[in-house]
Amino acid sequence: MTKADVTILGAGPYGLSAAAHLRTVPGLDVRSFGKPMSFWHCNMPRGMFLRSGWDATHIADPARSLTLEAYQAASGAHFSKPVPLECFVEYGQWYQRESLPDLDQRDILRIEKTLNGFQITLSDGEKVHSRRVVIAAGIRSFAWRPSEFDNFGQSLVSHASEHQDFSPFAGQQVLVIGSGQSALESAALLHESGAEVEVVGRATHINWLQGWASTTLHWRLGRGVRNFLYAPTDVGPAGISQLMARPDLLRKLPRGLQDKLRKRAVRPAGARWLVKRLEAVPIRLGRQVRAVTTVAAGRVKVSFDDGSDRTIDHVLLGTGYRVDISKYDFLSEELKNSIDRHNGYPRLRAGLETSVDGLHILGAPAAWSFGPLMQFVSGTHYASRVLLRSVAGKPAK
Ligand SMILES: Cc1cc2nc3c(=O)[nH]c(=O)nc-3n(C[C@H](O)[C@H](O)[C@H](O)COP(=O)(O)OP(=O)(O)OC[C@H]3O[C@@H](n4cnc5c(N)ncnc54)[C@H](O)[C@@H]3O)c2cc1C
Repeated sequence: MTKADVTILGAGPYGLSAAAHLRTVPGLDVRSFGKPMSFWHCNMPRGMFLRSGWDATHIADPARSLTLEAYQAASGAHFSKPVPLECFVEYGQWYQRESLPDLDQRDILRIEKTLNGFQITLSDGEKVHSRRVVIAAGIRSFAWRPSEFDNFGQSLVSHASEHQDFSPFAGQQVLVIGSGQSALESAALLHESGAEVEVVGRATHINWLQGWASTTLHWRLGRGVRNFLYAPTDVGPAGISQLMARPDLLRKLPRGLQDKLRKRAVRPAGARWLVKRLEAVPIRLGRQVRAVTTVAAGRVKVSFDDGSDRTIDHVLLGTGYRVDISKYDFLSEELKNSIDRHNGYPRLRAGLETSVDGLHILGAPAAWSFGPLMQFVSGTHYASRVLLRSVAGKPAK
């Protein structure tokens, strides 16, 4: 069995950034596992744009030298805001080659607690003993499918995260469920791929971002006003954005207030640049799915609470993600049960450490403890810094 001081699971923005930071600690043996940027490459549709602003899209590195601009200069790639998905994936892969050329691309199958750390089993059966583990596994395991759709195969009902390419839907009737960015952007891409699309959502209206008020506060009143109201991390509306950028301050507020602010900061919304692209797509809001049945010739019938129904070829669920770390199948049952949780989220201490000493969780599962900043790339600056401080300042037992 090989040994490590710290093992990092995951090579998305959080895992890569954590590794780049921890490798600055002299003498610390850090091993990283996972395929670089695989969630972005395999579970988001081609043609998508990032909703986050330019300054909120750099993956944090200790020298602040692996920025989007540095990538453009090194690669000759030209792109601007909104950042195309393909460019962001290539940027992340470049970041990995620069900061972590020896990344081990094997998956981690199992993590178990031992007396003095953790035993890790890799996809080929090799075992590693590690004194600490940092989990940066992202949200793929948390894709949310409403129970009405439980009994349907992928040919009739699929989640937005199951598609890289919508062109196979050309000529088909597709019903998109949801009214957030993922549902709306999927609908636009399906329409542009030649599908006949309709969007149905529970919400009574769509929150379009970058409206008149936001554009005025962002640009028309000048840089001073903008910097006062909005943090570069770009999470949340005017004012709230500054608080979301400071997780240590947010954590001091009463829990009820934290929950309200968090909900407000990340309510479902669509980027303004989708409005025109969706002009020809019918959007029906304020409706809930009541029943789903299959009909002849591989079609599916969806009935709504207003008495209407639709018979279509495919349902695409743009229903988002619900964090529940018990769905991380690489955690042993014993370890899962030892992690103190609230509604599926781990309760984390300083350094994003769980109630199990030496086990850290970064990214979206950290949002209950450190706020919604943890759901976005811009949260890598905070997460990697506090992780580094915790690991470097407190040698693992
Ligand atoms: C459609 C969509 C659009 C989004 N747009 C934005 C945006 O514009 N801006 C933004 O900031 N955020 C956006 N997000 C949120 C985005 O998911 C997070 O910002 C980001 O992915 C967080 O990085 P991460 O490292 O936590 O997770 P991920 O990027 O998901 O990385 C996790 C990694 O862990 C690896 N992994 C998982 N299990 C194992 C295992 N057992 N062994 C080894 N490796 C493993 C995976 O392969 C993956 O590479 C979007 C999300 C979605 C779904």
